[in-house]
Amino acid sequence: MERVIMIKYGELTTKKGNRNFFVKSLYQSILNKLEEYDVKISSDLSRMYIEFNDDDLDKILKRINNIFGIHEYLVAFKVETDIEQIKKQVLEIIKNENFNTFKVETKRSDKNFPIQSIEFSQMIGGLILKNTNNKKVDVHNPELLVNIEIRKDFTYIYTNYYYGLGGYPNSTLGKGLLMLSGGIDSPVAAYLAMKRGVKIEAVYFEAIPHTSIEARNKVISICQKLSVYTKEIKLHIVPFTELQEEIYKNVDKDYVITIMRRMMYRITSKLAKKRKCLAIINGESIGQVASQTLTSMNVINSVTNMPVIRPVACLDKLEIIDIAKKIDTYDISILPFEDCCTVFVPKHPVINPELEACQEMEKKLDYENLIQKIIANINTIVITEKDESEFKDLL
Ligand code: ATP
Ligand code: MG
Repeated sequence: MERVIMIKYGELTTKKGNRNFFVKSLYQSILNKLEEYDVKISSDLSRMYIEFNDDDLDKILKRINNIFGIHEYLVAFKVETDIEQIKKQVLEIIKNENFNTFKVETKRSDKNFPIQSIEFSQMIGGLILKNTNNKKVDVHNPELLVNIEIRKDFTYIYTNYYYGLGGYPNSTLGKGLLMLSGGIDSPVAAYLAMKRGVKIEAVYFEAIPHTSIEARNKVISICQKLSVYTKEIKLHIVPFTELQEEIYKNVDKDYVITIMRRMMYRITSKLAKKRKCLAIINGESIGQVASQTLTSMNVINSVTNMPVIRPVACLDKLEIIDIAKKIDTYDISILPFEDCCTVFVPKHPVINPELEACQEMEKKLDYENLIQKIIANINTIVITEKDESEFKDLL
């Protein structure tokens, strides 16, 4: 019995004119993710089919489970489109299934097939009843659903399916620069943006010696977790110490975070343009901390005219944590190493900062030159899911 993995596209089906582009991109994503396996991938308008070696099935399914742009996937039995073959195969398949009630559902994309879908389902249902004991048809809530998809040359029969991640295939909708801290929120923001087909590069601000190498390692480990969903992640490590110390020395304590974040946005925005990223992405969530009130967001955001995407802006912390656990970044994020935001956080950060006040304080800083110097000294590393030890040497 030949089996194939069948992939059903999700939202792609609504993209009329661009459909081919999305399908091709999905094909490429699958090919990349399965490059170490001996597979053959083919596709038609609404489905992709993967032929595989039986021994690899579990590993391949695990990888497919991490590919964006897949609505559903399943393992189907493939037979020639021939009534007798289909009947024989269905009886073979249900031998291994444990059920009391069932339903047969037929989809017939080959309109030359001589029997209509409903009649064919009834015929196969009758065949199952005749060849089993005490089984009943239940069209509303069957324990076993036998799906039969009849295509021109081949017919696919399956009884199970899994939900894929959904979204759009990797890198189909441009590139964004993610502000990645070691916290819980920004990795989730990354995941959600990638899910919408946005390719991600990440920027991490560090203030050694106020922050530790362990804090940087956290961010690297998070990138590894995120790279499972794509090919690799470029991480730009920004030496922020000097500017941060300047801010701390020259700015009113309650404005330190506001000004620091305005500087982060300025640097991120410049780097984004340099890296041809079309948007900034971060893990801000409305009201979570003083710098994330709408007033703060206005004052901070006003240093850039790039779109700033905040995928978790409207999620509760508990909802963010749920996703962080699902993508396996949570345990890394809660490791206790301090980030540059937390090291310099004042007792009473301003909740409703004023733009003019920021601009006045920033006059005391020679920030334009410092920013140029910082950008010239960014350290960029490329992280894939596999090479855990390789960049440890860089540190
Ligand atoms: P997270 O929000 O990721 O849990 P956090 O809560 O420590 O981390 P916040 O102070 O809430 O971070 O900052 C809001 C957002 O600003 C982060 O989600 C992240 O996108 C960005 N950010 C904060 N610190 C850094 C940093 N050191 N490097 C890069 N981006 C940062
Ligand atoms: Mg946060």
